[in-house]
Amino acid sequence: MPSDPQVVVTGASGFVAKHTIAEFLRGGHSVRGTLRSMTKAEDVRRAVSRLGADPAKLTFIVADLVNDVGWEEAVGGAKAVVHTASPFPMTQPENPDDIIKPARDGTLRVLKAAANAAVPRVVLTSSTVAIFYPSDRPKGHVYSEDDFTDETRADLTPYFKSKTIAEKAAWDFARSREAPELVVINPSFIQGPAADGDLSTSHELYRILAKGTYPAAPSISFPVTDVRDVAAAHVAGAFQPGVAGRRYLVGEGRLSLFDLGQILARELPDLRSKVPKFELPDFAVRAIAVFDRKLRTVLPELGEKKAYSNARAKAELGLSLRSADEAVSAAVRSLRDLRLI
Ligand code: NDP
Repeated sequence: MPSDPQVVVTGASGFVAKHTIAEFLRGGHSVRGTLRSMTKAEDVRRAVSRLGADPAKLTFIVADLVNDVGWEEAVGGAKAVVHTASPFPMTQPENPDDIIKPARDGTLRVLKAAANAAVPRVVLTSSTVAIFYPSDRPKGHVYSEDDFTDETRADLTPYFKSKTIAEKAAWDFARSREAPELVVINPSFIQGPAADGDLSTSHELYRILAKGTYPAAPSISFPVTDVRDVAAAHVAGAFQPGVAGRRYLVGEGRLSLFDLGQILARELPDLRSKVPKFELPDFAVRAIAVFDRKLRTVLPELGEKKAYSNARAKAELGLSLRSADEAVSAAVRSLRDLRLI
């Protein structure tokens, strides 16, 4: 096995990272994953095996977004670095800097280390939340890679700010002469099968729905994407020619929170009595959010259903995206297989 990996994937213990690592391994690449602690290494190996990849060419190194230790060693010798690691908490912190700083400073640490180690390309996992919230778009605007969220908007959650600020910092860095090529993947709400029980916020939602905690759902909807397509987008971003300096909106269709409950009930009929029975009017959601911090995260979503284009990702990364329904069905079934709902 070569001592230098072809690809480094940061945050190897994450939902997106495990699928992305599996996709690289299935394609014959060697991978080094970064972890905050080596205690998760064996779990990640087992997860990528479960995803049909041989972990023989997977190694790990410890590096944390909040300090410089280990990053240059982590990225050294790689042909591409895929930076997925970023805080994605279920509950928003009181102090936005708790997640903005690791997201932004961690991204800059990875980019600086990659520049010092002469890594040719970095692929950054951003989000559609860094696209969908500029301040001045008219109703009916079709959102695309040309749009950037205005991180000064007062209604944004700390998470939305963290993704926007980190991506903007990455583009600023990429404009400096010594920077590696930058490719940014902007996925919408990611669904698809969980690889193990170390769940992302994406899947924690179903545990809440399955407990019957919310008899009614706020009227919000979002584009969905399947993690298997997000992994394919990262792999294409790492090695495909002609994509450097580009960002890619990866999303397909649109589902409401109520729809997610209905798919959950369809796939697992024993949970039908637990899922939301109706949608709450927006004024009621705003009122409850005064007391319920979790609900505050949905406030920017109330109202307009944003139209968007995924044409660039399909044309330039060669993606054929799974439907939103397929992505959610696969998520729900995987959680049942893992006995988590
Ligand atoms: P997970 O929570 O599953 O993964 C997040 C990863 O980031 C984990 O490996 C976590 O490590 C790591 N991480 C968090 N803080 C630090 C830190 N201080 N230092 C090092 N590593 C850290 O989330 P996802 O896989 O769902 O998300 C991956 C990426 O995709 C994120 O950038 C997220 O913003 C983005 N994204 C996700 C979407 C979704 O719906 N899931 C939608 C759009 C974008 P540990 O295991 O130690 O906590």
